[in-house]
Amino acid sequence: MQTVDYDIETLGVRGGIHRTPFSEHSEPIFLTSSFVFESAAQAAARFSGSESGFVYSRYTNPTVQTFEERLAALEGAECCVATSSGMAAILGCVMGLMRAGEHIVASRSLFGATMQLFNNLLAKFGIETTYVSLTDPEQWAVAVRPETRLFFVETPSNPLMEIGDIRAIAEIAHAAGAKLVVDNCFCTPVLQRPIELGADIVVHSATKYLDGQGRVLGGAVLGRRDVVFDPLTAFLRNAGATLSPFNAWVVLKGLETLKLRMEAQSASALALARWLESHPRVRRVHHPGLESHPQHVLARSQQRAGGAVLSFEVAGGREAAWKVVDETRLISITANLGDTKSTITHPASTTHGRLSAEVREAAGITEGLLRVSVGLESCDDLRNDLARGLG
Ligand SMILES: *Cc1c(COP(=O)(O)O)cnc(C)c1O
Repeated sequence: MQTVDYDIETLGVRGGIHRTPFSEHSEPIFLTSSFVFESAAQAAARFSGSESGFVYSRYTNPTVQTFEERLAALEGAECCVATSSGMAAILGCVMGLMRAGEHIVASRSLFGATMQLFNNLLAKFGIETTYVSLTDPEQWAVAVRPETRLFFVETPSNPLMEIGDIRAIAEIAHAAGAKLVVDNCFCTPVLQRPIELGADIVVHSATKYLDGQGRVLGGAVLGRRDVVFDPLTAFLRNAGATLSPFNAWVVLKGLETLKLRMEAQSASALALARWLESHPRVRRVHHPGLESHPQHVLARSQQRAGGAVLSFEVAGGREAAWKVVDETRLISITANLGDTKSTITHPASTTHGRLSAEVREAAGITEGLLRVSVGLESCDDLRNDLARGLG
């Protein structure tokens, strides 16, 4: 399908379709590990790459390819390589683009597993990471070394919804000869398209909003063909972190409703954030759509809406925060996010529980802080569910 002339709604539903001779209407799932050749000569040609076509599903698979083409169209990227999870996408980026002795500059506010990967695994193989403030581009420039290859950003950050200036950080990365990777999990291409803002690479955890219904794990790396395709394909071919065709199909169907879900969930999150902001037991609310957010103007310049995650600080510390969690009857108590089902978590005792109390407080993860990923339930029901524990 020619993608250039279509809007994002259309691309989400129709992108990447290659109908087979059976003329199916819905996208088929190709549950096959290998593909058959017509002759020894064709087998040789497929293996050498002189003839294009499918060989083995660790390399490529038609259902996975449909997902890749559809997501690439949504992100405005030339190329997409799907991976078995969001973490596999991040690992693939590093394994494909870096070598021992090179250096990463990354935001201090990153997904926990990404930090563990950088600190514990990559460090073993001689790749060092320097952490800097997401909100202060100047620190990124200062952290650059001759061997810096990647800048890594997640915006908005989790759980405080801080915003990194993608345009400014991309400029500093390029001046340093480095590539900027943006983890676009929280916004998805519906709310933010980092490549248009100057990023070189976008990574996704498809597990979150792209599936959107909490069913499967998946991931993706997107960017220019010459930057992404060869390094990532070599990584998957030989390291095996491939997306399964079944999971690709589930996420593909998720993409069809992505725009509707993101807009509805983001609007509900903003309505809840406004209500929480006026609640006497709530000290602070973090959501980029609120005028009180310190980077509201920046958020508006690079995001189409604030997103579906918010966090807020309850007066009365851990006891008061746990009471809000325990009094919910509707909202799920789980650390996952991006689902049509709303979820609530107390970061200080779960996702950020292993940090020392001082580090946590310095990072703004206070004992009263709660994070809510807003789903598709009615906003009134969600408000009542939170109001019960707030008293
Ligand atoms: C969940 C998440 C990941 C990791 O994705 P998995 O699919 O669970 O491996 C990476 N980045 C962010 C921002 C996430 O929320």
